[in-house]
Amino acid sequence: MSHCIFCAIIAREAEASIVYEDEHTVAFMDIRPFTPGHLLVVPKRHAAGLSQLDPQDGGRIFAVGQRLAAALRDSGTDAAGMPADGPRADGVNLFLADGAVAGQEVFHVHLHVIPRTTGDGFGLRGRPVTARRPDLDYLAGALRRRLDSV
Ligand code: 5GP
Ligand code: ZN
Repeated sequence: MSHCIFCAIIAREAEASIVYEDEHTVAFMDIRPFTPGHLLVVPKRHAAGLSQLDPQDGGRIFAVGQRLAAALRDSGTDAAGMPADGPRADGVNLFLADGAVAGQEVFHVHLHVIPRTTGDGFGLRGRPVTARRPDLDYLAGALRRRLDSV
């Protein structure tokens, strides 16, 4: 493997603001956040893309993302009864880019955890409903057959 910035972060050879770590995963703040509080969850075992990712590691990064989403959405209070500090979200997007054409820039699988608030300016393009049911059935059938070989 050539130099991987996320492996370097995991090994503490590169700096990052780490939020969570366990035996298999690390979560840290994204250096170019879409919204305040944007996090990345990575498996410790290097995998460039989804095809190399151990499905168990996939499950683990999702579970950590789920927990971080809960922390972002938590409207709890601290021990003194004051509102807890830190980023807060009314909703969360989980996002994973696999492949350059999908927007992947760092080739060590990572799950984006993106806090959302009203009017934060982040979002996917809207699109009209254009798909016809027979076309969707055709695509579904083709993919069903392909699933048998992967
Ligand atoms: P991708 O486009 O591959 O899905 O996302 C890569 C993400 O990694 C980007 O959001 C980018 O800001 C973040 N990133 C790239 N290099 C670093 C780094 O050195 N440190 C941190 N904390 N985030 C990084
Ligand atoms: Zn790596």
